[in-house]
Amino acid sequence: MITCTMHRGHNQIGGSCIELQSSDTKILLDLGLSLDSNIFEIPLPKDITYEQGKELIESSEFTDIPGIYIWDKRPNTIDAVLISHSHPDHWGIVQWLKPKIKIYFSKVSLKLINKSAELLGRPKIQEDRVKFFSPGSKFIVGDLEVMPHLVDHSAFEASAFELTDKNRNIFYTGDFRQHGRKEKLWDKTLKKVKQPLDVLIIEGTTLSRADETPITEKDLEEQAVKEISNNGGLAMIWTSSQNIDRLVTAYRTAKRTGRTFVVDPYTAHMLKIAGQSNVIPYPSKKFSDVKVYFSSRFSSYLVKQSSKKALYEFQKWKITKEEIQDNPSKYFMIVRPSVRDFLNQLSLENSVLFYSMWDGYRDDEKSLRFLSWLKEKGTKEIVLHTSGHADANTIRDTIKTLQPRNLIPIHTIMPKWFEKEYSKTKILQNGNSITLK
Ligand SMILES: [Zn+2]
Ligand SMILES: [Zn+2]
Repeated sequence: MITCTMHRGHNQIGGSCIELQSSDTKILLDLGLSLDSNIFEIPLPKDITYEQGKELIESSEFTDIPGIYIWDKRPNTIDAVLISHSHPDHWGIVQWLKPKIKIYFSKVSLKLINKSAELLGRPKIQEDRVKFFSPGSKFIVGDLEVMPHLVDHSAFEASAFELTDKNRNIFYTGDFRQHGRKEKLWDKTLKKVKQPLDVLIIEGTTLSRADETPITEKDLEEQAVKEISNNGGLAMIWTSSQNIDRLVTAYRTAKRTGRTFVVDPYTAHMLKIAGQSNVIPYPSKKFSDVKVYFSSRFSSYLVKQSSKKALYEFQKWKITKEEIQDNPSKYFMIVRPSVRDFLNQLSLENSVLFYSMWDGYRDDEKSLRFLSWLKEKGTKEIVLHTSGHADANTIRDTIKTLQPRNLIPIHTIMPKWFEKEYSKTKILQNGNSITLK
């Protein structure tokens, strides 16, 4: 017997959490923050009071599951939480869990999360309470067998989970797409999923957008190469330092246009972690064409939150503002608003900035100020972005291939889209369950 309970996500993007209960095991798939939550505003696990905890549940900031949080005296019934990837909307609440609950992460995902926490002065997730898995290698939790499959997503080393209790097969996609740098992976994964499939829990982030063929990371590379070739000045890209696919796109663009790829220390750390298990460029002997610049504002921020050691780990690969200023057309830089002091010392005439993130972030005041400042300095802004999530056709093909006996939509604001597409869709409202005998 297996029961699936939706805790959060049937009509919401981000903050997904679904519970699976077999005869003697109870687990959660993901336990993240809502996209509009700010982890920096939540009291630290060591300080949180009962009242603050209660308030977090009442305001729906935290998923309402009895007994799982450190301040909650009620008995806990959850054995483990499986985290699909390193985006905070999938793991952001786990630090407030009671220590008895095991948390499963892929090694690289936890390293990315903890290095970022260290550099930004946030508490790390304690490794001694974490169990690690590797995509492609099965593991056991109670009477459940779990196979994590590597998926293409904007977070590095993201996984989908295939779970079985010997009688029933369940597949949870996590966040996925088929147009990133691992675009061939999804079809191969679907062929491996055990049939018949009893439950497919599938994300539908992009379904509210127009139904069009997605731009691939390779398309972005072609577009960037073309724009830079037509442009004589400094080239810059503003993207998430955790979006390793996009950083690889930027690096390849730099190579193809004969430019040196220049990153900040934070991005260098993220690339180095991803580069430990894969061929990812990071400042090192092997990739001597990747340089690191030090903006004094961003550097003092990092030292204040973290340490000089972390800041200067990549000192050997330092590039100065004078070197860039001597010939701006030889460089392709990662930038963000906090490095404005460094950019202010460079000539930005004929420069180009690729805005390479979700367009929702563009509208906040800080972003708009930075973009209009660049514009005044002579920078041409070009939007260069593609979603980290599957388009409607990829979702349709996935359903067609897997033919699940039950489909549960998650991480979407369009659950009814699935109902129209597939008659075996069960929209599980938050708090509702289905049981397969
Ligand atoms: Zn997500
Ligand atoms: Zn994600």
